[in-house]
Amino acid sequence: MQGPIESAMVGLTLTHEHLLIDFTPVLTEPSAASERALMEQPVSMENLWWVRHNWTSSVDNLRLFDEQTAIDEANEFFRAGGATIVDVTSVGIGRDPAALLRISKATGLNVVMGAGFYVDMTHSDWLRGASVDEIARKIISDIDEGVDGTGIRAGIIGEIGCSWPWTDSEKKVLEAAVAAQRETGAPLLIHPGRDEKAPMELLKAVEGWGGDMRRTVMGHIERTIYDRGALDEVAATGAYLNFDLFGHDESHYPLAKDTFMPADHERIEQIEHLVADGRSSQVLLAHDVCTKHRLKRYGGHGFDHIPARVVPRMRARGMHEEDVRMVLVDNPTRMLTFN
Ligand SMILES: [Zn+2]
Repeated sequence: MQGPIESAMVGLTLTHEHLLIDFTPVLTEPSAASERALMEQPVSMENLWWVRHNWTSSVDNLRLFDEQTAIDEANEFFRAGGATIVDVTSVGIGRDPAALLRISKATGLNVVMGAGFYVDMTHSDWLRGASVDEIARKIISDIDEGVDGTGIRAGIIGEIGCSWPWTDSEKKVLEAAVAAQRETGAPLLIHPGRDEKAPMELLKAVEGWGGDMRRTVMGHIERTIYDRGALDEVAATGAYLNFDLFGHDESHYPLAKDTFMPADHERIEQIEHLVADGRSSQVLLAHDVCTKHRLKRYGGHGFDHIPARVVPRMRARGMHEEDVRMVLVDNPTRMLTFN
């Protein structure tokens, strides 16, 4: 975001994170009176157990506003050998270019900033009234010139939020994001709705609008696709598959009955399947940190979870060194490189 970096400098990369975010648009208000009190309390040791199991119901948990905390937490990744964090906080959930630049300078990490818009519930009146072309021009300007005169430029389009079912406003935004990809060559990263059919519906639309599958990242694979056949179908499109929720535990994912959050070993099993199938060049990894309870300061796994605890398990289970390097360094470098 201080401008383009040499591809040799990309290094060990987390491809979907949020250093700062206002994730309160997803707040789920509890109905019980006692829990409504918990909803308003700052996260503390006393309520952390409740926050961990109701992480979308604590207002404070959904706010990552403190720059020093972000710097301290990101430094954990740097100390574990990390070089680049892709922050895909899009417009609607508090994207903060100036703060990301300060965090990058304070940590020595490359921070790649996103462009574009999150899910429908965060869309502004301007966005709802804008044409595909107007939205595309806004995204292109964030990439080519920088955000609102700051000169701070985005290095990726995303995360582009899509719900299930997919809304008209989200369709318009994704079409604009594809137009921006065609114009700039920038990678496009998509947040799919929670349905096994969502990724293919979205990727077919991207292809129909002339998008480049090999420059497109399908996010949240592990909480969206459980069936191996469905996984293979998405992989066959050539898109990147982002296993971007490492460290996020099933017991802390209170959503619909037909979706669940797998454990890390299940993510690794899906990745091993793709690697065995010759698809290691499409796999990307991240944590999608977006709440306090996943930071070390609040008892969470932190930004170094993948290098410190996931990669050693991958190696112990027999993943070859070239595949480890591929998913952590080579794929992010190729994904992020454009002119
Ligand atoms: Zn995210």
